[in-house]
Amino acid sequence: MKIGIVGLPNVGKSTLFNAITKAGAQSANYPFCTIEPNVGVVSVPDYRLDKLVALYNSEKTVPTAIEFFDIAGLVKGASKGEGLGNKFLANIREVDAIAHVVRCFEDTNIVHVDGKVDPTRDLETINLELIFSDLEVLERRIQKTSKNAKSGNKGDKVELEILIKIKEILEGGKFASEKNFDEDEWEIIKSLQLLTTKPVLYIANVSEEDVASEDNEMVKALKEYVKDEGSEVIKICASIEEEISQFEPEEKEEFLRELGLSESGLDKVIKSGYKLLGLITYITAGPKEVRAWTITEGTKAPQAAGKIHTDFERGFIRAEITPYEKLMEAGSDVKAKELGWTRVEGKDYEVKDGDVILFRFNV
Ligand code: GDP
Repeated sequence: MKIGIVGLPNVGKSTLFNAITKAGAQSANYPFCTIEPNVGVVSVPDYRLDKLVALYNSEKTVPTAIEFFDIAGLVKGASKGEGLGNKFLANIREVDAIAHVVRCFEDTNIVHVDGKVDPTRDLETINLELIFSDLEVLERRIQKTSKNAKSGNKGDKVELEILIKIKEILEGGKFASEKNFDEDEWEIIKSLQLLTTKPVLYIANVSEEDVASEDNEMVKALKEYVKDEGSEVIKICASIEEEISQFEPEEKEEFLRELGLSESGLDKVIKSGYKLLGLITYITAGPKEVRAWTITEGTKAPQAAGKIHTDFERGFIRAEITPYEKLMEAGSDVKAKELGWTRVEGKDYEVKDGDVILFRFNV
């Protein structure tokens, strides 16, 4: 999963990104992730993995990872090519979801690019840039598709209608969201890689004093503003995140407890990102390793196996499944089998979150 961090200058993006890279530096290496200066990789916290490692006496654990992309440089006028705008907008096209950092802390020493801290205005500024950028993409696409549609291609006519519908929504200053379209339409829309059709998570960056207390006026305003979109607002303090990113796990817990927080802001962001994208985890476990795999909800067993290796998908025979809770209750996989808690499932089985799976396949 790739999440792009956007926001106006001086809202705390780099601070949060530093926290991410520092926290990530301690985790195992992730062969599947691209490591670049603007990419931070963090493991997805999952208490189940440690329990399973103890159960199997496994040599190692491999959590799943999230890649955070620092998409700095988005400013007013970016879609018109101001700053390094267009380049950054192109970067956002690659991500699965957007984490939009909004400044909700006052600090007279830290200038705001627009003079005053105002979260809803900030949010509109960035969102308008995303909208402008998409409108440009749409214009080009509409021109091309309408030419093709004239020659009578039915598919092009359908696409043209969808393109025009999105354009109207964007011109009204809104994002095109899934609920405005049916399933087939949404499939076409996704292929356009528009910025404004990506799921968004708002991150309200508050001061150290405000993070554990009731929402301040700025956070309240922000929540009220995004209510209709149905987007989530996560309150964090970027500078605290940066501080705790250097702690060992036990120290981190202690520190959070003292602040009156149950989990770190980064963990909250990861969890919400998962939910936003409809992602779940299944697990493979044995003495060698316990490993988490990320799939989208509704993924069938062979495709889930394909995450491990394409051969697993091609030669899929069956999946032996023990739900995590059942496996822990049984105390071992042998016992779970004896109790009949390990099920054999075929190619139509939809994998569930927390399934501990052994795939059988032909090579
Ligand atoms: P960016 O331009 O969005 O990347 O913003 P930075 O991360 O560079 O932050 C801008 C300034 O705000 C820096 O001086 C940070 O130390 C400060 N800052 C960032 N997050 C917080 C926070 O949560 N609380 C306070 N008080 N200051 C912060």
